[in-house]
Amino acid sequence: MSLVVLAGPAGVGKGSIVRWILENQPGFTLSVSATTRDPRPGEVDGVHYHFVTVDKFQELIDKNQMLEWAQVHGKHFYGTPLSELARAEAEGKHLLLEIDLQGARQVKAQMPHALMIFINPPSFEELERRLRFRATETEEQIQTRLTTARTELAAAGEFDYQLTNLDLEACAREVVELVSKAERGS
Ligand code: 5GP
Repeated sequence: MSLVVLAGPAGVGKGSIVRWILENQPGFTLSVSATTRDPRPGEVDGVHYHFVTVDKFQELIDKNQMLEWAQVHGKHFYGTPLSELARAEAEGKHLLLEIDLQGARQVKAQMPHALMIFINPPSFEELERRLRFRATETEEQIQTRLTTARTELAAAGEFDYQLTNLDLEACAREVVELVSKAERGS
């Protein structure tokens, strides 16, 4: 079982890449993060996130039940419960972590064998276009995300691999291929 961290700025298409892998590669499962933000329309508790209160989130940290956690976009808290690793192990599946840069760094520090993959947008302009197209955020939130995106893009070199999301399926297949290669030890 591999631990696969997928990082990259909001709007780069990590969610779509993950969806493609889950639909096409039965050997993978997605880590369901805990978050203190409210669900968006269509998001289901326990499926997209574990939606928790700040108190509950703090309790998970205090009880050492988080692999990593971070305050993302300077606002809400997000973290990977350790129970997700146990679940993937029990299911015998590769665990995909779709997390931010701060979290990715913590995972690398704690689990040096984790496969660290950074997803780049074709360009910054394209990233901005995709963020606006998604239209789930206000202009202020979009600006915050673009500021965070600049910081994240500057750290791409810290990762084991960098991919560019020009084409969703091609990029998702590259992720799968990198995991297979890492498994074979090549
Ligand atoms: P959103 O609110 O759009 O679902 O997610 C915002 C950001 O939070 C995403 O860029 C995502 O990478 C990050 N994120 C989601 N789950 C986690 C997590 O468990 N840990 C960390 N560190 N970041 C996360």
